[in-house]
Amino acid sequence: MMTLENVPLAPLTTLKVGGPARYFVEAKSAAEVAEAVSFARSRDLPLFVLGGGSNLVVSDAGWPGLVLKLAVSGIEECTGNGETLFEVGAGEEWDRFVARAVARNCAGVECLSGVPGSVGGTPVQNVGAYGQEVSETIESVLVFDLKDGQVRELCAEACGFQYRTSIFNTSERGRFIILRVTYRLTPGGKPRLEYADLKKHFAGFQQTPSLTSIREAVRRIRAAKAMLITAGDEDCRSAGSFFKNPVLSADQYDELTRRATAKLLQVPSYPALDAQRKVSAAWLVEHSGFSRGYSSGRVGISRKHALAIVNRGEATAADILGLKEHIQQRVEELWGIQLEPEPVFVGF
Ligand SMILES: Cc1cc2nc3c(=O)[nH]c(=O)nc-3n(C[C@H](O)[C@H](O)[C@H](O)COP(=O)(O)OP(=O)(O)OC[C@H]3O[C@@H](n4cnc5c(N)ncnc54)[C@H](O)[C@@H]3O)c2cc1C
Repeated sequence: MMTLENVPLAPLTTLKVGGPARYFVEAKSAAEVAEAVSFARSRDLPLFVLGGGSNLVVSDAGWPGLVLKLAVSGIEECTGNGETLFEVGAGEEWDRFVARAVARNCAGVECLSGVPGSVGGTPVQNVGAYGQEVSETIESVLVFDLKDGQVRELCAEACGFQYRTSIFNTSERGRFIILRVTYRLTPGGKPRLEYADLKKHFAGFQQTPSLTSIREAVRRIRAAKAMLITAGDEDCRSAGSFFKNPVLSADQYDELTRRATAKLLQVPSYPALDAQRKVSAAWLVEHSGFSRGYSSGRVGISRKHALAIVNRGEATAADILGLKEHIQQRVEELWGIQLEPEPVFVGF
């Protein structure tokens, strides 16, 4: 295992901002993870675990300690009792695994086609899209526990999955390094066809679409929103959705409706959001003066998606933060709601 020094982090992220890692290693196994951890401990260096860099804003100063990039590879399959378990290395590209599962006609992750990043990144914020979340299919997560240096298997229940959260980004943040994730999929299972955009795509079809056609449709819809990393599309220089859809109390919801009515507007209603009294962060952003294609110097809003803050080229992390704060301020002033960012802030 080679330890590198002063490695630029911006190219290792989708947003492409931020300074260097003081030290940087890639770990291909649990043993290499243990070695990297003892290197950091022996020098008293703070540790940051990097996956595919698709949910990060790295500070302009970079990371003062060790960045450990997970490179554990491999996709193992085991079928029995009408289900297939896939054990996937944390360093595998997520969409490569989805492609494999769909090619094997195994249902459960088809709607998550095209989400960037690594397999190890998916349990962290319980990745979800188009009506599916990884928590529905994760069987267990193999972790290196920084508390006692042991490798252990956490069952799905122990991961505490909720909307965009798990123990990995809340109560136990910084404790576990994810080495491998096991997904339980259904061979020959029906695809999930619940999300409005997807239903619209397949409206008029007589037959249930195949997993392959769901995968293709999701990737096409995502590409149209610059939510699929596509070479040459500048709107992809983002960290995906920058804000979570806020979950409101009954009072907050009434207040929002009152403010909307006063402006002769209607808060949009989506079945997927309404059940949990979640409102569309995209609607709030768009109705606070930040429409698609908005530009402010080197940063802006994607031309294809109101929730994606994009680096228009040569932006700094400070530029990104400036626009984030500006949006949060305006949304709070106009709608009384505090938007919570979705990406992870590194080195601030
Ligand atoms: C264009 C675009 C579209 C996106 N669309 C979606 C979407 O539809 N739905 C969605 O949920 N997300 C979406 N995202 C966000 C992102 O793709 C996911 O959060 C992804 O799972 C992050 O994985 P990563 O490997 O890139 O993690 P990173 O960005 O490298 O890291 C994110 C966090 O996870 C931690 N982490 C990563 N790997 C490990 C590991 N092995 N062990 C412990 N901790 C780890 C890091 O320390 C960090 O805290 C999108 C992002 C982009 C750029």
